[in-house]
Amino acid sequence: MPIVLACLQERAPGERRVALTPETARKFAALGATVRIEPGAGAEAGFPDADYAGVEVQEREALLAAADLLLCVQSPAGADLARLKPGAMLVGLLAPHRADGREALLAERRATAFAMEKLPRTTRAQAMDVLSSQAGMAGYKAVLLAAQLSPRFFPMLSTAAGTIRPSKLLVVGAGVAGLQAIATARRLGAQVEGFDVRPETREQIESLGGRFLDLGVSAAGSGGYARELSAEERALQQQRLAEHLKGIDVVVCTAAVPGRPAPRIITAAMVAGMKPGSVVVDMAAETGGNCELTRPGENLRHGGVTVAGPLDLASSGALHASEMYARNLLNFVGLFLKDGVLAPDWNDELLAGTCWQRPG
Ligand code: NAD
Repeated sequence: MPIVLACLQERAPGERRVALTPETARKFAALGATVRIEPGAGAEAGFPDADYAGVEVQEREALLAAADLLLCVQSPAGADLARLKPGAMLVGLLAPHRADGREALLAERRATAFAMEKLPRTTRAQAMDVLSSQAGMAGYKAVLLAAQLSPRFFPMLSTAAGTIRPSKLLVVGAGVAGLQAIATARRLGAQVEGFDVRPETREQIESLGGRFLDLGVSAAGSGGYARELSAEERALQQQRLAEHLKGIDVVVCTAAVPGRPAPRIITAAMVAGMKPGSVVVDMAAETGGNCELTRPGENLRHGGVTVAGPLDLASSGALHASEMYARNLLNFVGLFLKDGVLAPDWNDELLAGTCWQRPG
């Protein structure tokens, strides 16, 4: 009997993405799986049920009871996990750090859960890396949001009404999202600067037409990520940044340290020192914010400055974000779905590293 691979409709507020697209459904079927979706699973992302050719549409309750492998964007709620088929596998952005009792429910169902956040960041894993693909969309949308909130043009314009100077935009953190933000802001014609504590980002920022802002702090950590800064490093970074921000029109914050609250980089005093009409878009809002004033999910005004803490940037580009996410999952599941059978090789560092829960 081939395994049943199923995709539920996402239930988290504001979540429009879907973990399975018509394209990946076809490819999973070619790998021997029986593919099913919940009614409307892809509708918010622009994939109506009718586009999933050859896929059975089944109500949630029945899907949960039948699925050997369940694909999701965000974790299903506890009530859904409690109804999983015994021995089922679950793959998605499961937020393993959230201490909310889901481990016990998964253990009770003898389920195996892969949390894609835990995927090791090796070269072989790149095609499966959902954090990267979703960060790309989020970085792009963050700049569009900043342009929307800003009372200024981004490009330089020579008009009959005089010359408009280009906006000066600073991207804080030049990882995947930050580099996409830099590229997007350049395309909109802004003067772009970026900074990061990993020194290798200088070349990456410059190759996208940005200027590397050197604040004299370097903190490369392990696995290609940043480490937390020491108190002295932080003080130096802050003092130089405060001065620099007085001439900046738009800040896009993307700095993160995995598994930790976002580093606080922009203080309320720094925001107060910015020009009226300036904008801060804080992509780190979900993990506490890079800006002291950020409130998750809100746009607020501080003096003349707008501070936005959007939570749904990747979801707001749901169609392409879902296409990339679904392909990432296809590549990941392809590691252990062969001829319609689920057979994970636990010696594979990608599977072992991504596994969050496994029956003992
Ligand atoms: P991230 O989202 O964890 O962090 C975003 C950026 O914030 C990082 O560049 C980080 O250096 C920076 N940062 C952290 N603290 C800072 C501070 N105090 N001030 C300024 N900047 C700060 O990172 P990410 O975008 O997910 O990825 C970061 C790294 O991982 C990059 O080197 C990327 O090339 C690498 N990567 C590798 C793979 C792979 O090989 N499979 C995939 C994706 C990313």
